[in-house]
Amino acid sequence: EGENQWKWDKGVCRFCGTGCGIMVATRNDRIVAVKGDPLAPVNRGLNCIKGYFNAKIMYGADRLKKPLLRVDEQGNFSKAGKFKPVSWQRAFDEMEKHMKKALKELGPTGIAVFSSGQHTIMEGYAASKFMKAGFRSNNIDPNARHCMASAVVGFMQTFGIDEPSGNYDDIELTDTIVTWGANMAEMHPILWSRATDRKLSAPNRVKVVNLSTYSNRTSDVADTEIIFKPNTDLAIWNYIAHEIVFNHPEAIDWEFVNKYTEFVTGVVDIGYGMRTAEHEKFTDKEKETVRIESSKVLTKDEAKALSYLGYKEGDVMEMKNRNTAGKHWIITFADFKKALAPYTLDFVADVSKGDEEEDIEVYKKKLKELADYYIEKGRSVASFWTMGFNQHTRGSWVNEQAYMVHLLLGKQAQPGNGAFSLTGQPSACGTAREVGTFAHRLPADMVVDNPKHRAIAEKIWKLPEGTLNGKIGSHTMKIHRDLEDGLIKFAWINVCNPYQNTANANHWLKAARKMDNFIVCSDGYPGISAKVSDLILPSAMIFEKWGAYGNAERRTQHWKQQVTPVGDAMPDIWQYAELAKRFQIREVWGAQKIPGLEGGLPDVLQQAQDMGYKLTDTLYDVLYANKEARAFAWPDPVGDGVKNTEAQGDKRGVRDGSGENFKGYGFFLQKYLWEEYREFGAGHAHDLAYFDVYHKVRGLKWPVVDGKETLWRFNSKYDPYAKNAGIGDFAFYGEAMKTLAQGDLVKPNPAKPKKEMKNRAKIFFRPYMEAPEIPDAEYPIWLSTGRVLEHWHSGTMTMRVPELYRAVPEALCYMHPKDAAKKGFIDGDLIWIESRRGKIKAHVQTRGRNRMPRGMVFVPWFDEKVFINKVTLDATCPLSKQTDFKKCAVKLYKA
Ligand code: SF4
Repeated sequence: EGENQWKWDKGVCRFCGTGCGIMVATRNDRIVAVKGDPLAPVNRGLNCIKGYFNAKIMYGADRLKKPLLRVDEQGNFSKAGKFKPVSWQRAFDEMEKHMKKALKELGPTGIAVFSSGQHTIMEGYAASKFMKAGFRSNNIDPNARHCMASAVVGFMQTFGIDEPSGNYDDIELTDTIVTWGANMAEMHPILWSRATDRKLSAPNRVKVVNLSTYSNRTSDVADTEIIFKPNTDLAIWNYIAHEIVFNHPEAIDWEFVNKYTEFVTGVVDIGYGMRTAEHEKFTDKEKETVRIESSKVLTKDEAKALSYLGYKEGDVMEMKNRNTAGKHWIITFADFKKALAPYTLDFVADVSKGDEEEDIEVYKKKLKELADYYIEKGRSVASFWTMGFNQHTRGSWVNEQAYMVHLLLGKQAQPGNGAFSLTGQPSACGTAREVGTFAHRLPADMVVDNPKHRAIAEKIWKLPEGTLNGKIGSHTMKIHRDLEDGLIKFAWINVCNPYQNTANANHWLKAARKMDNFIVCSDGYPGISAKVSDLILPSAMIFEKWGAYGNAERRTQHWKQQVTPVGDAMPDIWQYAELAKRFQIREVWGAQKIPGLEGGLPDVLQQAQDMGYKLTDTLYDVLYANKEARAFAWPDPVGDGVKNTEAQGDKRGVRDGSGENFKGYGFFLQKYLWEEYREFGAGHAHDLAYFDVYHKVRGLKWPVVDGKETLWRFNSKYDPYAKNAGIGDFAFYGEAMKTLAQGDLVKPNPAKPKKEMKNRAKIFFRPYMEAPEIPDAEYPIWLSTGRVLEHWHSGTMTMRVPELYRAVPEALCYMHPKDAAKKGFIDGDLIWIESRRGKIKAHVQTRGRNRMPRGMVFVPWFDEKVFINKVTLDATCPLSKQTDFKKCAVKLYKA
């Protein structure tokens, strides 16, 4: 036997938003090797260290192979019981029972799904449809809430449409790479190898600046490293804008600004959503309002900045339109300029300097140099960021401020020029955002609280009018809080680890185990979330199922099933479909006592009957084999007369006649769901190609119009939607698309919106504001969390790969050597890291990849033994509800 016995096929890396193509080798129904795909445009044959281990993650010794239920000695379910293997039948029996109980007691808001940016596109689509169309519950939210929600608000507010205008080619085309809170060298290593290549190919022309709260590997290639104090990046953006507006007005691209943008500002929200005594003292009404206060929320200078806009202290406004973000309104350039007045170099340097050992004049020089790179005529600039921006109590604002500078200079949506939000997870863009697995969203940027959007979704999903619930569901943090408050009693975790990845974790762990609820976790391995659940379902992993991801540059990439799932593991999509068979539409839609959904329900049932449904039809019939699909003759993949999903083998992947390729259930359900999903985006700037097309190419960047991908959105040379707007070189058509969506979503005719388009991007002014928790005498040190190159997220997969485990076996507490010496610590000492919420132990590390400034520590969160999220603060951005994992106050002492 040798490699010539292996069968190779294309796949996609399962880690990180870069979206590298890989080649997967199988032999005897097992994946035996992985290598970089030389034809993949993203990575051109290379992978990073995690990428090469996409196969080994599937074969860890404790891979989940059977459903496990907590039972007592008699075999009955008991929250206090021990996990015992059960059949899938028994697992679904328990899920059905507990889900029905929660629905009866609390209605659709009593159940919830934790979804994921690692869900495949079709899985996310199926999960969203399962909850929103099936159970009329919008309580589904992805872990992307912790990852990209602020980026989404930034996009929606600025452009009216989600996802970056640029693509990875910007790296090779730009003169300046600026990373803001993005340690690309470890988090997006393949993109960093492209950035490094760019720098080294033109070392004098190409400049690299790394802005971070600590020194990291990305700084190793940077010309300039700027270490800023946590939370102050927004002030730095405002300084750059100040420099442009006050000192280099000639740099403003007035033609671009006047034709394609408008100046706006917004309001200030209180309430960071923390589960703390301080937050709880606000009434619900107060949490829903916005307030301008110089004393608490704003510094004097910020209040002064807002006063230029007509605000005064104590102003309170109703916050409407919470589905996407807060209210904002158009201002004049003169107002914009006045608002920026306080952000002088002296003020911002003073506020933001992060390394106390650095000379202030040296720091100022670096800030000035940074501003000059942006300002220089003819110099292209690409700004990249990830969690450093997004995991920020003002995450949405800082995203907007990045666009603000690029738009002001006319350096956006062009080759080599643009502000580019990198995603963390492999399908944060493709699944969480495009599919709309967020609690407020529907596919293709539509939202549940817009009746016209609901009507469009109901039409595509062949649902009776009024089926969809217009009330925004609970976002990830709220699902945790609702579980703690007894407002949710059934939660299903899919492809994520919410009990390890959520800040202030002690609260949620306690709620999971002590409250009257039923928690189900579908996973490949027993992580913390599985361990605190009541039922664990073994899920098929990456190449044990068909799938597709959409990466950070809008590239959709599909793969085929390569091997049979191990043990009794089953794809998540099968799990939704099977559970949906347990619920008749009469019992779900006919439950007239569902709070918030009274009235009109008999109409829904009547309409369902008029549409040809029987009241005894199950949700499965409605969701995955609807009226039309039931009439659809399912193709016969194996040539043995199999015509329907029931009979297609064990549904774990039926092979075709040659025995070479997987077909059957997975293939047809995925294809059916994909083609249905495509309808949402067609003609609405979210166009996708047909399912079969993606299996012949190495991905395509949406929108895909007339078979062609879109390289730079909003740019008439590259984007047919912008071209068809007919107003010039650019058209920022997102807002106009929203209007179009209300009446004419599914017609693939980009020319149609011509007259209706407003085509303007928004240039925001947002003030700098202090962090909700700042080091003080009792808790004097900043804590930041994040990832390391070798491990993915909570480590459930990569910690089981021996090579990756050996490389980084535990999470360390990185700190400055002088801080360590002052406390009497040496490298390797075990110390307590304690905040107001909890404490954990970690070993001290003063050297290596992360070099901390004085007064700050960094602890990665991949290691469940070093459970840093017991310490972190659950403060969220008021607009995006994304948690701030990047800063809170801690104290350190020897264990
Ligand atoms: Fe590429 Fe990211 Fe996978 Fe590494 S982890 S191979 S950079 S997709």
